[in-house]
Amino acid sequence: MKIAFIGLGNMGGPMALNLHKAGHTVAAFDLSAAACETLRAQGVAIAESAAQAVQGADVVVSMLPASQHVESLYLGEQGLLAKIAPGTLVIDSSTIAAATSRKVAEAGAARGIAVIDAPVSGGTGGAIAGTLTFMVGGSEADLERARPVLEKMGANIFHAGAAGAGQTAKICNNMLLGILMIGTSEAIALGVANGLDPKVLSEIMRRSSGGNWALEKYNPLPGVMENAPASKGYAGGFGTDLMLKDLGLAQENAMAVKAATPLGGMARSLYAAHSLAGHGALDFSSVIKLVQKAG
Ligand code: NAD
Repeated sequence: MKIAFIGLGNMGGPMALNLHKAGHTVAAFDLSAAACETLRAQGVAIAESAAQAVQGADVVVSMLPASQHVESLYLGEQGLLAKIAPGTLVIDSSTIAAATSRKVAEAGAARGIAVIDAPVSGGTGGAIAGTLTFMVGGSEADLERARPVLEKMGANIFHAGAAGAGQTAKICNNMLLGILMIGTSEAIALGVANGLDPKVLSEIMRRSSGGNWALEKYNPLPGVMENAPASKGYAGGFGTDLMLKDLGLAQENAMAVKAATPLGGMARSLYAAHSLAGHGALDFSSVIKLVQKAG
């Protein structure tokens, strides 16, 4: 299959590489020359532009930061939907507003292009290992068309509902993750302040009723987990500003449907304060800095 892949960041880079390794002909593109170089060095063909990447593609996959990037890539007179051949399948895996996903899907349908939203969970580790969870919004038939491609990048594929439903599932999940990371950070900081060994405490909680994904795979304290972003200076991973975006999407959605999300609102404010303190580009687990003893 010929696959165009747009957006080669922390997630998109390894996802595109997995499609290449699976034997697909991948034409990749990112606005960042450094991101393109990383993939080129691993044997992936780099296109000169997004428009060139989609020429002759059977499937287009995008993995961009936020709603505005997806909207400006696909919509408008210069947008990619005007350059993609009718009959092509577009899989947008970015985490964006459900309303934007629906808008792009409608614009695609008007041109005979099927667009599904397929945001992911599993972090950069899951992207590298090809074990991501996909939450798909779109028709059952379009999901079945996408399945062989998604299976090369992920281990779990869920049909959340119609267009935009994948995004709604994703922001529910990330609101919970944002809250869990702060709670986990507080608990570790409290134990450390009392002289406990953070590795021992983390293991106790991981195997007890406080166990969660942060303790399993993504410990926020440096040195506890060798491969976690915390042990790599909070580089790579899932940026604080991306988590802040997702918590904002969750709050906008909660207002629209009059849902009560007190901890989600508090979590958004805490990540906002952390970002304002200059940590927006660090992995979101660096939020532990808010509750950790300095020095
Ligand atoms: P990132 O910032 O590392 O990468 C995004 C890439 O998109 C950048 O390389 C940027 O140059 C590129 N880009 C932006 N606009 C573009 C355009 N018009 N054309 C081509 N390239 C363009 O972000 P990421 O961590 O890879 O996250 C991507 C998406 O996945 C976000 O929506 C994020 O919320 C979501 N997500 C991230 C993680 C994670 O752990 N990092 C996990 C799940 C979901």
